[in-house]
Amino acid sequence: MKTFTAFPICSLVFISLVAIMYFSKPHIKTVENRIYKDLIICNIIGLVLEILCYFAVDIVDNFYFFAMFILKSYIIYLFAWTMIMNAYVFIICQKNNKETNNEKYFAKIVKISNIIIITIAIIIYLLPLHIYNENNLAYTYGLGTNLLVLACMIFAIMWLSKIVISFNRLKQKKYVPIIVCIVVLIIVFIIQSYDRSILIATTGHAFIVLLMYFTIENPDVKLIEQLNIAKAKAEKANSAKTDFLSNMSHEIRTPLNAIVGFSNLLLENKELPLDAKDEVEDIIMASDNLLEIVNGILDISKIEANKLEIVNNEYSFSKLVKELVSLTKGRIGEKPLELKTNIDPTIPEVLYGDAQRVKQICVNLLTNAVKYTKEGWINLTVSSVIKDNVCRLIISVEDTGIGIKQENIAKLFNKFERVDLEDNITIEGTGLGLAITKMLVDLMHGKIVVQSVYGKGSKFTVSLDQKVVSEPTLKIEEEKIDEKNIVVHDKKVLLVDDNKINLKVGEKLLQSYGINPLLVESGQECIDLLREESFDLILLDDMMPKLSGVETLKKIKELYPHFNTPVVALTANALTGMKEKYLKDGFDDYLAKPIDKNELNRVINKYLNKE
Ligand code: ADP
Repeated sequence: MKTFTAFPICSLVFISLVAIMYFSKPHIKTVENRIYKDLIICNIIGLVLEILCYFAVDIVDNFYFFAMFILKSYIIYLFAWTMIMNAYVFIICQKNNKETNNEKYFAKIVKISNIIIITIAIIIYLLPLHIYNENNLAYTYGLGTNLLVLACMIFAIMWLSKIVISFNRLKQKKYVPIIVCIVVLIIVFIIQSYDRSILIATTGHAFIVLLMYFTIENPDVKLIEQLNIAKAKAEKANSAKTDFLSNMSHEIRTPLNAIVGFSNLLLENKELPLDAKDEVEDIIMASDNLLEIVNGILDISKIEANKLEIVNNEYSFSKLVKELVSLTKGRIGEKPLELKTNIDPTIPEVLYGDAQRVKQICVNLLTNAVKYTKEGWINLTVSSVIKDNVCRLIISVEDTGIGIKQENIAKLFNKFERVDLEDNITIEGTGLGLAITKMLVDLMHGKIVVQSVYGKGSKFTVSLDQKVVSEPTLKIEEEKIDEKNIVVHDKKVLLVDDNKINLKVGEKLLQSYGINPLLVESGQECIDLLREESFDLILLDDMMPKLSGVETLKKIKELYPHFNTPVVALTANALTGMKEKYLKDGFDDYLAKPIDKNELNRVINKYLNKE
């Protein structure tokens, strides 16, 4: 028997090392960890007892009670370890493996296990234990040991069936050590039935504990597992936030459509007194600001949720610059500010990239330049470097404005961060523009740098790579359409929207083109109407109760195979990328609410203009 003391001694050394490593590392307090901790401690006690057992058989004649205590304690240890392992198997096989459920389940298992262990301990201490010690061979036998073997076999069968039942649920890694554990126990059982003097059960346990440390119970692995769970939770919360924001955008855009629509109509009224005209213009400006904030928040949340895609297409660079100039001039208004432009004439006419996003970046920088410059000039410079079919655009926006303190430059691109507030407290802003600009530039693999002298002015420079198109397929679209050139006679337009106020706004807007649209409040009404009547254009709201716009259009196309009226999606769901989605859903065009007059001009011109 003594020759085998090397096993528990080596095991004790290894397990002590594992214990030191395990307890010195920070680990998450899950139920599984707690059971594993108990397994380690129990294993150490067992190994010590096992070593003592080798000596106990020799001193049994002189110290009978002490030797018996050691030998019986060892048998109880074997049982206790099995019970702890049993708790571990039950926890990992739990149907709903959530920590709160595990806690309750764990408390129940601990209670039952404790009662069983104490009962078995009492029985084993009371039952007689016999020692066979002859011919250099020593082992214990008796009812207690038989009871233990029987119990271990029952548990092994129970674990196996538990694992088989919950096989699909268990993560692959988790059941491997348990199966190994059962195999090790079987080997130990076979070896001990062959030679009962070889005490290797505890060494077997040590092997399992070691195996578990390097597979499923390693604190580092557990930490990563927990981090992944936390990450998944955070991602879920983030996507809930995006959903919430897109709903909120819809809710804000719907009433805004009425405000902007009616205000625009009021402005067109020639009988409007001059002071009322000013007030209406203020309403439009405030609505535009609100819309900008909603769009900003949506963009940020989309970028953060990795949902913002860069949509590359061919686009006309000169058209983009023209739009930027007219927009900036509009923003400058009456301010004593001159807009200078310096555009490299060698930049190809057609480029391939995301024109919308390039425009957004430039608009943000130009808007800031206008906002933070009281007088002087703003200089928009675009130069380029062309190499291997890639045109690197170097866009810089310089102003003679209030400038930015050096210590604040690093903070500029933080969300909701507004700097030098003492200077610009009266200037409206959310602190989102530059954060979005930076995120967009990063998404397009570009660079942005800021130079500024406080009190003198600032210069923002962005570099973006756009592809050069050798054989452009792009037809340079017509410029802004003048409403006066749109001639519409006897055209039948159907307007579908569940919101009565928005129906009224749409009706009034269309009346300004001489169109008297038919109004219906639901998708079903629209479908029914198309059975008898045909139209030249349908403006169809998407987010409607019962039948959405998308579903309505799908049904129309199913019911009337020859249907070929252009259908325009009219929606407050104006997240970027929505236009592409609606076109994919079968719509011919897209109008975001609040309806932009220029966009409406374009749509009316495209589908109804006789000229
Ligand atoms: P917002 O303009 O809505 O406050 P931005 O993210 O666009 O948010 O800008 C963040 C801050 O950077 C502004 O509050 C302003 O203090 C500063 N800033 C941005 N552009 C300029 C500029 N051209 N000149 C001076 N300060 C600027």
